[in-house]
Amino acid sequence: MQVTRTTPVVKPIDCEHYINGKYVQSNSGETFENINPATKEVLGRVQLGGKVEVDQAVKAARKALKGEWGTMPAKKRSQILRKIGDLILERLPELAALETLDTGKPLWLSKSVDIDRAANNFHFFADYMTAVGNESYQQDDIAIHYSVRKPVGVVGLINPWNLPLLLLTWKLAPALAAGNTVVMKPSEVTPMTATVLAQICTDAGVPEGVVNLVHGMGETGAAITSHEDVDAIAFTGETITGSAIMKAAAPTLKKLSFELGGKNPNIIFADADLDDTIETTLKSSFINQGEVCLCGSRIYVERSIYDEFLEKFAAKAKELKVGDPFNPDTKVGAMVSEEHYTKVVSYLDIAKEEGGTFLIGGNTLFEDKGFYIMPTIITDLGKDSRCVREEIFGPVVTVVPFDSEEEVLEQVNDTHYGLSASLWTTNVKRAARFSAQIEAGMVWVNTWFLRDLRTPFGGMKHSGLGREGGAHSMDFYTELTNVTLKL
Ligand code: NAD
Repeated sequence: MQVTRTTPVVKPIDCEHYINGKYVQSNSGETFENINPATKEVLGRVQLGGKVEVDQAVKAARKALKGEWGTMPAKKRSQILRKIGDLILERLPELAALETLDTGKPLWLSKSVDIDRAANNFHFFADYMTAVGNESYQQDDIAIHYSVRKPVGVVGLINPWNLPLLLLTWKLAPALAAGNTVVMKPSEVTPMTATVLAQICTDAGVPEGVVNLVHGMGETGAAITSHEDVDAIAFTGETITGSAIMKAAAPTLKKLSFELGGKNPNIIFADADLDDTIETTLKSSFINQGEVCLCGSRIYVERSIYDEFLEKFAAKAKELKVGDPFNPDTKVGAMVSEEHYTKVVSYLDIAKEEGGTFLIGGNTLFEDKGFYIMPTIITDLGKDSRCVREEIFGPVVTVVPFDSEEEVLEQVNDTHYGLSASLWTTNVKRAARFSAQIEAGMVWVNTWFLRDLRTPFGGMKHSGLGREGGAHSMDFYTELTNVTLKL
């Protein structure tokens, strides 16, 4: 097997901050390298922001909140949001190529999921904010009570690297729809599409200072979370970082929304449609190199179909082409960074130490070219195995047999995570009974990754705080004032 190099359709960019409607460099002059994980080549340099740049961005956002944006009629704001979505679609080939260069994910995936859904986030909230009234009204003998929704204020949006533009816009669209101003901090590993998005917002008519962007590392994020003039933080990332943010935000009592890690079960009963199950389980295991918070990396299979499942699943997984993300046939690209690749590889070693059997995979590929790991299926691990319990966030799944509904339910819920679960059965009563007992924010029955933006998205336990989507997003990005008017 070889990594065939297909020429990307776009030139990588250097990444500057975007503050008060302009690209700017760091006061300190400090920058860091942006690496292409599929080739180990340097894509460009990124400005390293710190407290100074964060403070400038927060001041710009605060000023813009009091300006035209704060008083703009909802209909006009909605038109601007729609335009942002349109411009993202117009620039889809360029944005998708930049996303693939940054993340190592296949280009077809960047196009069909990341960038397409990013545009849809704006189109959805452009419609939502004008179609749905959120105010309540009550009257009794002595008074009229009504409530008024207002923006929360200046919101910090801090994001991970796995779905960079999709997750950033998933927060930015409702934040803007509700009339807030923002300071965005994309992951240091994937800074390019956020840099382009800032200009797209201005091109669509967003006034200066409403959308600000500061690049940098964890300390840059920390400067946002501890800033006294930031009102709320919407964060997606690791559970441990969420915990640090909660601590940093405590002195200023910021409103918080957290989308955190997961170790999601994929439960397959013997009465499931096996071909359909395997087709989707391939995706929920290996799409985006397994770097999706929702991946179903803990697979439980009813014992009577365990062998048949393993044989068919492994045969299909072996066919997945690993390699150059710009090759249209590639199904699994490169891991996002050397650091993350090393972490995932360490779990392959842990699996060996724990006595696991590699049904397929367990090895790396093209080490001199980039950070590639073969899709890996591990069996023979007990329920206390670290590979079964911890979030690996790579193309690595464990498969465990079970004998009864009660037994598997206990194992499914025996985790501090609670993001999502998939359940495969043709028994409707079992589907309803079992899904209601799973401790997770989202349960898919006979499917995976289907998303309706009106529904609540988020995790319980250590997988998150709050919900996003439709009215849930608007609840987070607004404050309510109740007015009681004496008759
Ligand atoms: P991460 O927590 O390391 O980093 C996320 C962001 O936080 C980055 O921008 C980083 O610079 C910043 N950051 C780091 N330390 C900080 C601090 N102390 N204060 C403020 N900001 C800080 O996460 P990651 O490795 O980029 O992403 C992978 C994780 O994200 C996985 O755990 C995955 O499950 C999770 N994730 C969850 C969802 C969801 O919807 N629940 C979606 C995608 C990813």
